[in-house]
Amino acid sequence: MYRYVFGPVPSRRLGKSLGVNVVPLKYCNFNCIYCQLGRTRHVINDLRMFYPPEDIIKEMEVVVRARNYDYLTFIGDGEPTLYAGLGKLIQWARNNQDRPLAILTNGAKLIDEEVRSWLSELDVVKVSTDAGSERTFRLINRPHREITFDRFIEGIERFREVFSGQIWTEVMLVKGINDNEEEMERIGEALRRYRPDRVYMMVPTRPPAEPWVKPPTSDVLVGLAKVLSRYVNSDRIFIIDYVERGEFHIDKNDPVNSLLGILKVQPMTVEQVMDVIRRNNLDMEILDRIRSLTKEVVFNGITYLVYSSE
Ligand code: SF4
Repeated sequence: MYRYVFGPVPSRRLGKSLGVNVVPLKYCNFNCIYCQLGRTRHVINDLRMFYPPEDIIKEMEVVVRARNYDYLTFIGDGEPTLYAGLGKLIQWARNNQDRPLAILTNGAKLIDEEVRSWLSELDVVKVSTDAGSERTFRLINRPHREITFDRFIEGIERFREVFSGQIWTEVMLVKGINDNEEEMERIGEALRRYRPDRVYMMVPTRPPAEPWVKPPTSDVLVGLAKVLSRYVNSDRIFIIDYVERGEFHIDKNDPVNSLLGILKVQPMTVEQVMDVIRRNNLDMEILDRIRSLTKEVVFNGITYLVYSSE
């Protein structure tokens, strides 16, 4: 059983993504209303050495040799740039494996010079920009009190000046919060400041932290993409409003813990878990064990299994 490395899992943006989870549940500097990990229990904005980097490197050493993947991706059960050992891990990965390196971050720590220098070694840095104003930023991302919208965008802007890799942005759209033309114009202005290479317009597809969160309809999404194309070239804008398809890799000798490793960072549909069991010729009773360790949440008519450590 690996504690930090999981997958590869299918990613809507990164293909087969081998994940390295560097932050325990749920330390984040945001508390997004749509977060698939639930509400943030520890809203912090300082760097912490959650785990000894050597322990994570020991696992990466074994797994990067044994598994086939497209990207090595740093993530967290919260915000990965809050991990004080991240720079060391990125350096190790750069020197010891040959696949591209990515991080899924909200981008708020890019205001910190040390974090900018760590992340400048990566190939893809995926940030978020769900709002174009302080008001909507506070409504949707509910950031740590030290973080203002302007400083948040300034951090990404400064990073753009030194980073030669790709900056991808995720704009998560929530019905009634940021799915209107005026906010999209403001988001467009913010994107203009740091010129992302790609913009992914997303909707919540997994159970959100706040049960009242709903996705906008597809025609609203298309209309908002048109607004955004006044600010970002339309061939850089991608709409993603579906749950990812593809194969999840698990350790056949320890399927329950392998599946739990994935479920800790993302809820899976019951069909996805059944598909993993079938593909690996495992016993369907594993589904019952997984069910007993997770809770079932129905979102948008789809039943998800959500891991909870409580
Ligand atoms: S979505 Fe990401 S940034 Fe937002 S609260 Fe969840 S972990 Fe933090």
